[in-house]
Amino acid sequence: LRTYGKAQVGIPEVTWNDVGDLEEVKEVINKYVVATMQRRDILEKLGIEPIHGILLFGPPGVGKTLVAKATANMLKANFIELNGAELARVGPERAAAVVKDVFNMARDNAPAIIFIDEIDSVAPPRDSPTGSVWSNVIAQLLTEMDGLRGLNNVIVIAATNRPWFIDPALLRPGRFDKVIYIPPPNRDARREIIKIHIRNAEVEEGVIDWVAEVTEGYSGADLAALVREAKMRALDRVLSGDNKVRITREDFEYALSKVRPSLSRELLSQY
Ligand code: ATP
Repeated sequence: LRTYGKAQVGIPEVTWNDVGDLEEVKEVINKYVVATMQRRDILEKLGIEPIHGILLFGPPGVGKTLVAKATANMLKANFIELNGAELARVGPERAAAVVKDVFNMARDNAPAIIFIDEIDSVAPPRDSPTGSVWSNVIAQLLTEMDGLRGLNNVIVIAATNRPWFIDPALLRPGRFDKVIYIPPPNRDARREIIKIHIRNAEVEEGVIDWVAEVTEGYSGADLAALVREAKMRALDRVLSGDNKVRITREDFEYALSKVRPSLSRELLSQY
């Protein structure tokens, strides 16, 4: 990855194989984004508007960043990440200039995906108490999004845990008009995610199914941490003389006591 100022540019290594579940999300992205970037001729013939912006929303740690990276990898597009919370820290004046630079950088490095994580930090509704502070940044984002209309090789993916806290002008046609919910993982999804993180490792039979069953409320990020913890526990065990060189149910029991679920019912009831 090359570094431009603070932002890095390069094709991510994450592929769809690293993303557990989320089949519908993959399908929508494959269909619209691939058509926009690679088969514009078909869209024109069918009178379908190309896509310029996608908003991914859902609880924390469910794979929004992962989806954006896998999309860039699939398209062999450069990935330029802009973190809304970091951008907010530079202040509203400089933030507008950074937004402008990042869009220029994307055009210079096309095909490119711009990923704006935590977009709500810099694009709250302009009529909200914090909204007026960020109106310059929002205006810059709107200008840049509108400027992408004639281009088919730059797409912006934004992510948020608070879709209700985004200025509505950003969601109008031609801007972030494809809004996709990334849900918390259900049991089957959790099994897929655990399998991805545990691949290549030796695991006691039946353990993955059992872990998937008992991890309600665990996000993808929590499951990744859980598997890491179980692996380290197994390593400790084996190094202290145990001859079971595989990950056992007991390793996961220990990991479950260390890594707690982050998705409470209360949090999920917002979506
Ligand atoms: P946040 O809202 O906190 O930014 P996010 O939704 O963008 O979170 P990611 O950063 O994509 O979540 O996920 C964090 C980590 O959790 C990933 O790097 C990956 O290890 C794991 N993870 C999350 N979702 C999945 C998934 N569906 N499949 C595989 N791993 C996942």
